[in-house]
Amino acid sequence: MATATLTIDLDALTTNWRALDALSTAQTAAVVKADGYGLGADRVARALMRAGVTRFFVAVAEEGAELRQAIGPKPEINVFAGHMSGDTDMISDMQLTPMLNSIDQIVRHLEALPNHAFGIQLDTGMNRLGLEEPEWAAVAETVLARKPSLVMSHLACADEPEHPMNPQQLATFKRLTDGISVPRSLAATGGILLGSDYHFDLTRPGVGLYGGMPFVEATPVVGLSVPVIQIRDVAAGETVGYANSWMAERDSRVATISAGYADGLIRAMSAGIDVFAEDTRCPVIGRVSMDLITVDVTDAPQEPKTLELLGQHQSVDSVADAAGTIGYEILTSLGARYYRRYKSA
Ligand SMILES: *Cc1c(COP(=O)(O)O)cnc(C)c1O
Repeated sequence: MATATLTIDLDALTTNWRALDALSTAQTAAVVKADGYGLGADRVARALMRAGVTRFFVAVAEEGAELRQAIGPKPEINVFAGHMSGDTDMISDMQLTPMLNSIDQIVRHLEALPNHAFGIQLDTGMNRLGLEEPEWAAVAETVLARKPSLVMSHLACADEPEHPMNPQQLATFKRLTDGISVPRSLAATGGILLGSDYHFDLTRPGVGLYGGMPFVEATPVVGLSVPVIQIRDVAAGETVGYANSWMAERDSRVATISAGYADGLIRAMSAGIDVFAEDTRCPVIGRVSMDLITVDVTDAPQEPKTLELLGQHQSVDSVADAAGTIGYEILTSLGARYYRRYKSA
């Protein structure tokens, strides 16, 4: 078969969660939005539940509804987008906990579902989601009397430990929430690594669970092995691929492998990445096309049947660097065509 295999190591995933949990002085939740950062929210969440996770976060209510089907009634599922119009039945039927972001959402939620759990998201400077300071001042007393399950905010620059925005947002979050008797949450992966001042009662790691930066010590979770469809000889001076973008400087062996930009291997990575035949580094040559990538395998010790694009030799973040993007984008772009293999002991 020509379908590439994406291997997802669920033991590495739970190892990463345990490591982040050990660093954290708070309860540790798990963020599984965007289908578990592209790796399959159902399988990822069930593995994390077995490791002890009882609280999950998703981006939107629809993701929460799907997750609820996969993990059963017990774990808490929090929704970052809050309570949108049209979401009420889903929030109620699927027992989702919306993080309310605005006065409108608070009114909508308390009118439609007065006895249903909710949390509050505050803006502490990122200006993306959450109530602004004066809005919170106006409603805090009323809202807190309804006993939210969480008051949270999000850091804009947590992947840069020295950034002055971090202590600034921390101070703002404290000013807005010190003295309240509701659990508080500020840190995602980057915030956990900033230290215990940032942990409060609950942390919300996402990317670190999946083996991505800024969690430098993460165990790799994702492997991608791509079948070789064909190998040919290319004489010195011949060209390969669209726009003749590569020319052989020596007599070469060129492998064509079965994955391309339709599988999330974006064209921007064309020049910068390698793939691996066992331990031999083989450069990607020519342009990444929709379904195919060409590779110089002249130096491979024998004809490879598959080439490894992600794994022990090359991380999601190194591929992201080569493409001028971040690991988050590579992970969440991983294609639907891959055969997904979940590995656990
Ligand atoms: C995505 C997200 C997270 C998880 O962030 P990571 O950097 O992936 O750990 C936590 N909180 C909010 C509000 C988010 O949007």
